[in-house]
Amino acid sequence: MARTFRNFIGGEWVEPAEGRYFQNRNPADHADVIGRFPDSTARDVDEAVRSARRGFTLWSRTPAPARGDVLRRVGDLLVERKEKIADAMTREMGKVLAETRGDVQEGIDTAFYAATEGRRLFGQVVPSELRSKWAMSYRRPIGVVGLITPFNFPMAIPTWKMFPALLCGNAVIIKPSEDVPHTVHLLVEILLEAGLPPEVIQLVHGGSDVGEAIVSHPEIPVISFTGSTETGAIIGETCGRMHKRLSLEMGGKNAMIVMDDADLDLALEGVLWGAFGTTGQRCTATSRLILHRKIHDRFLARVADAADALRLGDGRVDRTDVGPLIHEASREKVERYVAIGQDEGAELVIGGRRPGGRLAAGTFYRPTIFAGVKPRSRLEQEEIFGPVLSVIRVGSFDDAVRVNNDVRYGLSSSIYTSDVNRAFRALELLDNGITYVNAPTIGAEAHLPFGGVKATGNGHREGGWEVYDFYSETKVCYVDYSGRLQRAQIDTYDV
Ligand code: NAD
Repeated sequence: MARTFRNFIGGEWVEPAEGRYFQNRNPADHADVIGRFPDSTARDVDEAVRSARRGFTLWSRTPAPARGDVLRRVGDLLVERKEKIADAMTREMGKVLAETRGDVQEGIDTAFYAATEGRRLFGQVVPSELRSKWAMSYRRPIGVVGLITPFNFPMAIPTWKMFPALLCGNAVIIKPSEDVPHTVHLLVEILLEAGLPPEVIQLVHGGSDVGEAIVSHPEIPVISFTGSTETGAIIGETCGRMHKRLSLEMGGKNAMIVMDDADLDLALEGVLWGAFGTTGQRCTATSRLILHRKIHDRFLARVADAADALRLGDGRVDRTDVGPLIHEASREKVERYVAIGQDEGAELVIGGRRPGGRLAAGTFYRPTIFAGVKPRSRLEQEEIFGPVLSVIRVGSFDDAVRVNNDVRYGLSSSIYTSDVNRAFRALELLDNGITYVNAPTIGAEAHLPFGGVKATGNGHREGGWEVYDFYSETKVCYVDYSGRLQRAQIDTYDV
């Protein structure tokens, strides 16, 4: 009998108000049930908000350095449990252990960064235009923040949001993806062990209904969402109507450009990791490969051979290179796009099918490459979120830039070249939030801002220092100690 997990609301592990549960299964082997998790409703969210309001009162008055100390202990516990969490994450999400270890490590880095930010949550003191007057700003906590996260980074993304939100003194309600609820359960256990006052964190499991209840709750003024552009658009409408502060991190259609002067051995390693790591289910996955015509044929042949040799399997087995897709609906979506690609006249070079045999127990799909993909075709434009790489042939650097930029998304891009001038032109011209030179489209580091332009985001960034602005309110304070009325813009001082 599978274990039954609970929500964490009101400082306790509790059953969902309506007593319903869903099953969390291993995508590499659907017979393996990880547990039953609460299928919560708006009633659970209401309860979570009541508790979080109490948590906020306490936590917002706790000095920021003390809040940072809790997060440092969280980081220490994540270090201690890294292997155990990585194993649990691979079991529920599917990606290989090297990647789930990296996912936990990102949480560790984010915790230690947040811990130090507790002693550096700077405001500013600036000169006043008047005499005997101080003008300054400081950053205040906002209130209860609602966090809604996707399935593909079960630890990293929740921590990117949660740790800065907590460090800034907010109370948190998190709804993790219903596809990976176990990892955040393990994280909340750690937060409590590290000494976070219980009502500061609320964990409400469930699907889109719970997400909607969080987004539309009048006492949750801040929402941070990572997921698809379609879901983000729905959330944006509600938040706009309700005047909420909203951070959206959404889809991508990222390209790697390989120029004729590139180190092709390096580019080969990069594209395999970028396109087929996490089974292509990364917002920053390399889903388009833009090849200069002079190296197109020979490089494509090498990529195809190497991708075809990748070993599919359970991510917890050492020799596995590529795990399963998250669920059947994802695999069916990949299959729809393979059919679309063929209808559009692209050439299927490898893959395009499910593997058989023992892999039939999970939602596996062979690494797939299409060549001769036309710019502006659906295969080239739309996010597939699976192990499908579209190869586009170009005749020049300018063409490559145009193809890269001519999609509605703008998360990451990459260029392989040995010409330093061209590399810097690419940094200037590629229209993305992140550009890599001589590295694939993935590999963000926790202490730098992360996010994209156009339909990928709404101007905010996760990670690094910028995210602390999102989770805090700037308050400006003027102190006039002149003892008389001084009027800004009217009483001026001539020199
Ligand atoms: P998704 O949009 O299906 O779900 C994301 C989360 O939103 C889940 O927790 C889900 O339950 C919830 N949700 C669904 N409908 C909702 C609604 N109407 N209101 C409120 N919440 C709702 O995305 P997914 O399949 O979990 O993740 C894949 C997507 O996430 C891809 O598009 C990928 O590019 C994107 N992503 C983006 C980034 C980034 O930083 N830009 C990072 C990771 C993933």
